[in-house]
Amino acid sequence: MTGGQSVPNVNPSDTSDVIDQYRSGGRPEIEAAIEAADAAFHHWARSGPQIRHDVLKFVSDELLERREEIGTLLSREEGKILSDGIAETVRAAQIFGFFAGEALRLTGDIIPSVRDGVSVEITREPIGPVGIIAPWNFPIAIPAWKIAPALCYGNTVVFKPAELVPGCAWALAEILSRSGLPKGVFNLVMGKGSVVGQAMLDAPELKGISFTGSQATGQRVAEASVRRQRKFQLEMGGKNPLVVLDDADLERATDVALDGAFYATGQRCTASSRLIVTEGIHNRFVERLTEKVRSLKVGPALAPTTQMGPVVDETQLETDLTYIEIGRSEGANLRAGGERVRAETEGYFLSPALFTDTEPGMRINREEIFGPVASVLRARDYDHALDLANDTEFGLSAGICTSSLKHATDFRRAAQAGMVMVNLPTAGVDYHVPFGGTKASSYGQREQGVYAREFFTTVKTGYIHP
Ligand code: NAP
Repeated sequence: MTGGQSVPNVNPSDTSDVIDQYRSGGRPEIEAAIEAADAAFHHWARSGPQIRHDVLKFVSDELLERREEIGTLLSREEGKILSDGIAETVRAAQIFGFFAGEALRLTGDIIPSVRDGVSVEITREPIGPVGIIAPWNFPIAIPAWKIAPALCYGNTVVFKPAELVPGCAWALAEILSRSGLPKGVFNLVMGKGSVVGQAMLDAPELKGISFTGSQATGQRVAEASVRRQRKFQLEMGGKNPLVVLDDADLERATDVALDGAFYATGQRCTASSRLIVTEGIHNRFVERLTEKVRSLKVGPALAPTTQMGPVVDETQLETDLTYIEIGRSEGANLRAGGERVRAETEGYFLSPALFTDTEPGMRINREEIFGPVASVLRARDYDHALDLANDTEFGLSAGICTSSLKHATDFRRAAQAGMVMVNLPTAGVDYHVPFGGTKASSYGQREQGVYAREFFTTVKTGYIHP
C-alpha cells in the first residue's frame, strides 16, 4: 500500500520510541485492494497444490528464521515480553507450515450415483476474495491462522490489521510479497476500522469475512454480512472461568491461575478472568496467589527481567483503571495491584490486579475488561462452582484444577465453552486443533487445523454422465 496518511507507531513500553510511520489508507486504497483480490481470484482458485504449498512453506521458513527480529518488533509494538513475542512468531510459522502440508492433502470424493452410469464428484471450492479483520493482541498469530488457510484453499485475501500493530502486518506482507504468490492474491490495507474495515464490510466483492475482535464490531460484521448474504465467522470476547477445587495441587493451581490471568498482560480473549474457588482451599489459594501476583515484575517488554509488559495503549489503560474503580465501588476487595507502575521508561504500566470477595453479579465478573484484572469467586462445592462458571454470556474457554477424574470429566462435558482445560490455564492452545467458542464469544465455523476448511471452502457436488 502506498497512499494514505502517515501515522506514528508508538511503543507502549516507551512512548518516546516511535517505531515507524505507517500509511493509514482510506477508501481509494481499500477499493484498489478489493479490486486486485477480485481480479486475481479466478487464477488462484485454479492453482495447483504445489504452488500453494511452496508459498506457505516459504512464509513458514522465513518467519522461523526471523523469529528473533519479528518477535522483537512484536514486543516493541504490542508490549508482550520478548520470549512471548518470539513464541508467537514461531507459532505463526507453525501455522503456515501446517497449511503448507494441508495444501498437498486437498481431497475430494468420487462416489457412485444412484442412477446407472452416472458418477458423483464432491469437491471443495474456495469461497472467493475474503476479508480478514484482526485485533491487536496477537498481531502475527491471529493473521496467520486466517491468512494461511484462506490461501491454502484457493481464496484471495484483503487483510486489515488493527491500527495499533502495523509493524507485524507489514513484516508478514513483505514476506508474502516474496513468496511467489501471484500479484493481487494477498493485499494488505492498513487504516482505521471505521474507514477501511467498514469499507470491507460494504464491499459486495468480498464473499467472506473472517473477523476477530470485540463484540461490538462483531455485531457490525454480522449485520453487514447478513445483508450481503456473505459467509462470516466471528471470534470475540471471553470472561473465562478457572475452577479450583479443594483437591487441587495448590502450587500448580496458583501457577495455572497466574499464567491464565496475567500472561500477555491479561490481554487475551482466553484469559482466566474469573477464578472460582471452593471453600476448603479458598483462603490458602488466595494467600498464595496474592504472593505470586505481587511478585510479578512489571516493566518494559524488552527488558530481560520483565515478566509482564505494558498495557497496549492509553485507552486500554484507562479502561482497566476504570474497571478497578468499579470493582472497588461494588465492594470487592482489591488484594493486589491495580495501580500505575513507574518504570525506567514512560509507558502504560499497570500492576496486575487481584480482587477477592467478589459476587457473580458485579460488573467486574460480567464484562470483559481485557487487561491484567482478575477476580476470585467463592464456591460452596463443585456443583456451585460449575453453576458460577457457566453464569456468563460468554463461552470461549473454561478450566478446572482438580485431582478428581470424576470432576474433571464432568466439567469437560458440562462447561459451556468451546475449549476446556484440565489443570492447564484457560489460554495456551495448540496450533493444529480447532479454536473457538460458544454463546456470545463466537459465531460460525472453527478456526485452525483442518477445521478451518469449513469456513474457507464451499462444497460442490458434480454429476457426471460420460
Ligand atoms: P476491535 O476494536 O473490535 O477491533 C478488531 C478489528 O476490527 C480491528 O482491526 C479494528 O480496526 C476493526 N474494526 C473496528 N471498527 C470496525 C468497523 N466499523 N468495521 C470493520 N472493522 C472494524 O477489537 P480489539 O480491541 O482490536 O480486540 C480486542 C477484542 O478482541 C477483545 O474483545 C478480545 O476478547 C477479542 N479477541 C478475541 C479472540 C478470539 O479468538 N475469540 C482473540 C483475540 C482477541 P482498528 O484497530 O483500526 O480499530
